[in-house]
Amino acid sequence: MIRADTELRYLKGVGPRRAVGLAGRELVSVEDLLYVMPTRYEDRRSFARLADLAPFQAESTLSVRIVSSRLIRTRRKGFTIFRAEVADDSGSFPAVWFNQPYLERVLVAGRNAVLYGRVVVQKNMGAVLHNPEYEFLEDDDTEGVHTGRIVPVYRKQAELTSRMLRRVLHQALAEIDPRSLNETVPAAVARHHDLMGRFQALREVHFPPRDAGMHELEQKRTPAQRTLIFEEVFLLQLALALRRRTVKQERRGGSYEISEALRKRLAGLLPFELTRAQERVLGEIQADLCSDHPMQRLLQGDVGSGKTIVALLTLLVAVENGYQGVLMVPTEILAEQHLRNIRALIDRGGVDCRTGLLTGSLRAGPRRRTLERIRSGDVQLAIGTHALFEPGVEFARLGLVVIDEQHRFGVTQRAALSQKGTRPDVLVMTATPIPRSLALTIYGDLDLSQIDEMPPGRTPIATVMRFEHERGKVYGGLRGQIENGRQAYVVVPLVEENERRDRKAAEAFARKLAEEVFPDLSVGMIHGRLKGEEKDRVMQDFASGEIQILVATTVIEVGVDVSNATVMIIEHAERFGLSQLHQLRGRVGRGSERSYCILMIGGEDHGQDARERLKIMTATSDGFRIAERDLELRGAGAVFGTQQHGLGDLQFVAQAVHIPGMLDAARTEAQRMVELGAPAAREILESLGGKWKRRLDLVRVG
Ligand code: ADP
Ligand code: MG
Repeated sequence: MIRADTELRYLKGVGPRRAVGLAGRELVSVEDLLYVMPTRYEDRRSFARLADLAPFQAESTLSVRIVSSRLIRTRRKGFTIFRAEVADDSGSFPAVWFNQPYLERVLVAGRNAVLYGRVVVQKNMGAVLHNPEYEFLEDDDTEGVHTGRIVPVYRKQAELTSRMLRRVLHQALAEIDPRSLNETVPAAVARHHDLMGRFQALREVHFPPRDAGMHELEQKRTPAQRTLIFEEVFLLQLALALRRRTVKQERRGGSYEISEALRKRLAGLLPFELTRAQERVLGEIQADLCSDHPMQRLLQGDVGSGKTIVALLTLLVAVENGYQGVLMVPTEILAEQHLRNIRALIDRGGVDCRTGLLTGSLRAGPRRRTLERIRSGDVQLAIGTHALFEPGVEFARLGLVVIDEQHRFGVTQRAALSQKGTRPDVLVMTATPIPRSLALTIYGDLDLSQIDEMPPGRTPIATVMRFEHERGKVYGGLRGQIENGRQAYVVVPLVEENERRDRKAAEAFARKLAEEVFPDLSVGMIHGRLKGEEKDRVMQDFASGEIQILVATTVIEVGVDVSNATVMIIEHAERFGLSQLHQLRGRVGRGSERSYCILMIGGEDHGQDARERLKIMTATSDGFRIAERDLELRGAGAVFGTQQHGLGDLQFVAQAVHIPGMLDAARTEAQRMVELGAPAAREILESLGGKWKRRLDLVRVG
C-alpha cells in the first residue's frame, strides 16, 4: 500500500528516472501528484460519429483509425500542413494540423486514436477537423482507465504524457491508504459547507463518477471540485491570517511625525493638485505610519490613476523622518524614470533627499560605491530593481519599502526586503484591479487602499482592431499624429520560448519602419537586452521628443510615463493577454490630447478566443472589467504570476470567484479559526505535506 508521502519514484509507471523530471516541477510525493489537476475532461462514455460532424459545433471526442496521411509543404517558407484521413464505422473525415511536420512520423496509417477537436471550414480545403488533440489507443485498456468513462486530460508533466499521468493517478488512487491524506478543513467547517472528505474529492476530481455532468465539470461545480476549491482558499487564508495577526502584534521600530509644516512643504512640490482619491489614500498611509504597528498595505489603482506620486510623497515623509526608503520596481526603465521624477520634485525645493540607483546592469565599481552609500545611510532613498534584495544589500536605517507593480514580485521577495530592516513599513502597489473579495483573498495579509478616480482632464483612448490589409491606413493615421507633434509607440510581441528569434524579428521590423515606411521621421527601438545605459538613453530621447516613434517590446508595459505619446500600435495583439494589453494601452492617454490604440491582428490562424479578447479591449477601458475577464480566461495563476512567486499556481482561487459566496465563506472560516485560537490553525498548517507545505511556509515567513 502507498501513502500520501510516498515518493513518486516508487510508483509503477514513474520510476527513478522520470521522478527526477517530476521533482523539477515540484512534484515529489504522491500527494503532489494528486494535486495535478485535469485541464479538461473528455466524455468517452460514448464517442461522436464522424458522419455527424459539421462546422460550427463544439468540440467532439472521436474514436478513429488513421487511414492515410501526408505532409504538405506550402510555398510559404516554414509553413506546413499535415493532413490525415481518419475513419470510424460511420464514415471518414479529413483532419489537418498546421506547422507540426513531426506528426508525419507519429500519426501513421493504421494507428487507432482518440481525437478531440472541432470542425472548421478552411480555405481550399473545405470542412476539416482542425488541429485536433490526439491520444493513441493501442494497448488494451481492460481496466477501463482511458475509455468507457469521462476521462481526465492533463498537461504533460516532465516526461509523463496525459495518458501516462492518467494511468499512474488511477493506480495511485486505487492503492493509497486514504487515512494517509490528513483532513485539512476541520470537520465542523466541512459539514457546514457540504464538503467531501479529501480522498473522495481527489478521487472524483480525477475520475468523475459515471453519472457526473460534463457541464458541471467544465464549470468546476461538482461537489468534488467545490471541495478542493474551498480547501485551497481556506488554507491560503489560514496562512495569510496568521501572518497578518503576527504583523499586527509587532511594534514598529521608530516613530513618525507628520507635521502640518511638512504636509505643506510636500504639497508645494507638486505640479498639480492631488485628486480626492489620492488625498484619501495618502491619509490612510500616513495614519499607518503614525500607528504603533508596521504598515502592510496594498495600494490598488488602475493604470494612470496616479499611484506613483502617492508613493513618492510617502517615501519623502520617511526620509524627512530620518529613515531610509526603498522603491522597488520591476524594470530598469521604470527605475530610471522614477529617479528622474523624484529628482524633478526635489529640485522644486523645500525638501532634501539623497538618492541612489541600484539595478542589475550597474558595473562593479559604481555598484560597490552605491552599496556602501546605502550601508552608511548616505543614500536616503534607494530606487532599483530585483538587485535591491540581493544578500549584499544592507541598510543603515531602513524604514519604508515601496514595491511598485506588485504583480511582478512575489511574497518571498517582499519578505526578503522586509527582513533587511527592523520591521519596515511596507506599501505595495498594483495596477491589476481585481474584485474586492479576490483582493482580500490573494493579499489577505495586507490592508487595502484604492485610488478609484482618474486625474482630471483625461480624454478616453479610442481603441480599434485592424487587419494586415489596413496597415497602409494605420501608418497614414500615425504619420498624421506625428505631424501634429505627437509621439507613438509600436509594440512588438516577444514570446518567451523563442525569444531570440522574436527579438530578431522585432529588430527587422523596426529597421523596416525606420528605413522604408518613415525614413523622414526618427524611429528608435528598445528591448530588454539593451544595456542599462542604452535603455536609459533611448527612453530619455523618447521622453524629450527626440525619438518620434518608439518600437518597443513589452519592457514598456509597466509604468512608463511619456504624456506626449498619443498613439500605440500593438502588433500581433492577439498574442497578448488582456491585462497585459490594458497595461500597454495605459502608456497613452496620459495627457489631455486624444489618444489612439490600434490592435493589429496578424497571421491567419488567430482563433475565436483572440477575437473575443480584443473585442473587450475595444469595448471598455475599465481596468476592473478587463481584469475580471482576464481572470475568467486565464486563471489567477497566470494573471498574478503567483507561480513564480512562491504561491504556487493557486489553481482554484480564480474559480472560487465565480462561485457566489465561496471566497468570503472560506476566508471568514479561516479568520474565525485564527481568532479563536492561533495554535489550532498553526497545527493544520504544520500537518500539511508536499507542495502545500512548501508554498504556505513561504507565505508565513514574510
Ligand atoms: P500609475 O497609477 O499608472 O502609476 P502614474 O503615477 O504614472 O500612474 O500617473 C499617471 C500620470 O498622471 C503621470 O503623468 C502623473 O504625473 C499624472 N498625475 C498623477 N496625479 C495627478 C493629478 N492629481 N493631477 C494631474 N495629473 C496627475
Ligand atoms: Mg505606476
